[in-house]
Amino acid sequence: MIDSHIHIDDARFDDDRQQLLSDARQSGVTGFVLPATVAKGFSKIKSIAAENDDVFPAYGLHPYFVDQHQQQDLDILAEFLQNNQAVALGECGLDYYRDDLDRDDQQYYFEQQIKMAKNLNLPLILHVNGAVQAVFEGLKKHDYYRAVMHSFNGSVEQARQITEAGVLLGFGTAVVNPKSHRLHEVVKSVSLKHVVIETDAPDQPLYHKSKERNLPADLVEVAEGIAQLKNTSVTELVKQTNQNCRQIFNV
Ligand SMILES: [Zn+2]
Repeated sequence: MIDSHIHIDDARFDDDRQQLLSDARQSGVTGFVLPATVAKGFSKIKSIAAENDDVFPAYGLHPYFVDQHQQQDLDILAEFLQNNQAVALGECGLDYYRDDLDRDDQQYYFEQQIKMAKNLNLPLILHVNGAVQAVFEGLKKHDYYRAVMHSFNGSVEQARQITEAGVLLGFGTAVVNPKSHRLHEVVKSVSLKHVVIETDAPDQPLYHKSKERNLPADLVEVAEGIAQLKNTSVTELVKQTNQNCRQIFNV
C-alpha cells in the first residue's frame, strides 16, 4: 500500500528514519509520497528520496509557514520541481483554522503554485484545514483539478462536488478514531475511485497511541479502518487506492 502523504523528513524522525521506513515496508507499505513545507527543506527531501527508491518527493510551500515564504522561493520551487523527479507540487493550499496566518499572503502563494503545477503538468497536494471551499474555489478559478485534498475534512456535499470535478480525497488516522462520526459519513459517501490513504506522520498520532508522533507503519490501521467503513477487504481497498495513487502521481 502506498502512503500518499507522509512527512518522513520531519526532525522527529531524524534518529530512526531508516528503521521506521523498514518497519513500514515489513508491514506492507510499498511507497511513500513525501511533500515539502518550506524551501529550505527541499534539499533534505531530495536526499531522502535519493537514498530510498520507494520515497517519492514533492516540493511546495505550505500555508502554515506563509510567514517564512519569500518571492524567490517560488523560483527555487520551480527549479526543484523540474530537476528532481518530483511526483507532485505540494504541500500547498490554505489554512483557515489558524487565524495568525495572513490570508492574502496564503492566497497569493496558493494561486502561484496552482499556476505552476498547471504549467508543469504536475498534480497538487493540497492542505485544506478549515478551508475546503476556498481551496476548491482556487482550483475552479484556474480550472485545474489534478489534485489530492489531503486529510479531507469537508462535508458530504463538498466531497461529492469535489470528487465530481476529478479531485482525489486523502483520508488518514482520524478515520480510525471511533469519535470521528462526521468524517465516517464522508468516507462512506465517496467512491473508492476518488480515495487515497495517508498517515501524515508524524503530525496525526492515532487516538489510542503515543501523542508525540505517528509512524509510517500506522498506514496499516488507516487501511483497515477505511476498509471497514466501506464494507470491503483491505486487499480490495489497497488495490483501488494504489491504482489512484499510481495514476495521479505517475509512480
Ligand atoms: Zn502534510
